Amino acid sequence: RLVEQEPASSAETVIEQTLRPKTLAQYIGQTAVKNQLDIYITAAKKREESLDHVLLYGPPGLGKTTLALVIANELGVNIRTTSGPAIERPGDLVALLNELQPGDVLFIDEIHRLPKIVEEMLYSAMEDFYIDIVVGEGPTAHPVHFPLPPFTLIGATTRAGVLSAPLRDRFGISAHMAYYTDEELTQIVFRSADVFDLTLEDQGAHEIARRSRGTPRIANRLLKRVRDFADVADAQTVSLDIVQHALTQLQVDARGLDQIDRKLLALMIRDYNGGPVGLNTIAANIGEERATIEEMYEPYLLQIGFLKRTPRGRMATQAAYEHLGLPYNN
Ligand code: ATP
Repeated sequence: RLVEQEPASSAETVIEQTLRPKTLAQYIGQTAVKNQLDIYITAAKKREESLDHVLLYGPPGLGKTTLALVIANELGVNIRTTSGPAIERPGDLVALLNELQPGDVLFIDEIHRLPKIVEEMLYSAMEDFYIDIVVGEGPTAHPVHFPLPPFTLIGATTRAGVLSAPLRDRFGISAHMAYYTDEELTQIVFRSADVFDLTLEDQGAHEIARRSRGTPRIANRLLKRVRDFADVADAQTVSLDIVQHALTQLQVDARGLDQIDRKLLALMIRDYNGGPVGLNTIAANIGEERATIEEMYEPYLLQIGFLKRTPRGRMATQAAYEHLGLPYNN
């Protein structure tokens, strides 16, 4: 059976779908995760069983959704995709589970945002493939035992730390998605350029990769904008010059930091002498939500060593001062 496709409503959607790798072999990077999954998928298929439940965690845009689609495709089963906040009531979950065929994949993005009551229903569904639901109201209310076909739950989260222990423990396979290397991102950029029918010079591709914060989603977004600049300039091939010009216009700097990253670091350095500063203070001062900073901005700044976590708050490192061209005398 085929992987369920989203309706191809526009050229953009078609391109998005073409960009997505379909097999583990086409999926670039995340070697450790892929090697593990390859074994578990092969074993599950050999035994004709459903694959154990999989938890994918890591920063946004690293290809968790893409990997879930690849897993279903490799298993040769259907996938239903939804997200934690979309499953508001137990009835929503029952409806989803009710549509599954044996072996199918249910993908729940942002699984840390499932309502508690829904999460608790998932426990028996994951462990023993049944749910108990209450049918009727008042004196006629009675529990109904509802068996389910064996299925694979793939949960994705940017915040594994906030998952409850009972939920986390029910995933037999747990995979941490790491930031991509520049070489891996370069491959992704070339692959996407192919889909866009765009000829990229090596140096141009590397430059996009270097400035993409280890994140394929960002690499593809920058590539699209670079393509716009190239089209306007009637350039047949995209050179380093065009890439640099486009990225400067987009205010993406040499390390891939954008305006908000720089605003955050400058605030810490100028107003708080480099920290320690609490996350709430940073959030209030730069006008972003605390969760956005924690999930989208901070992980990369920590990864490249521009920020440090201390018990009293975040601190900017010497590398951050240097990057912003500010004197470091702490
Ligand atoms: P997440 O669920 O982790 O937030 P995602 O799966 O939604 O991320 P996308 O935003 O879909 O990630 O990734 C952007 C695009 O990058 C995908 O459509 C796909 O084309 C491409 N991509 C992501 N990861 C890979 C990869 N490992 N190899 C090749 N292409 C990839």
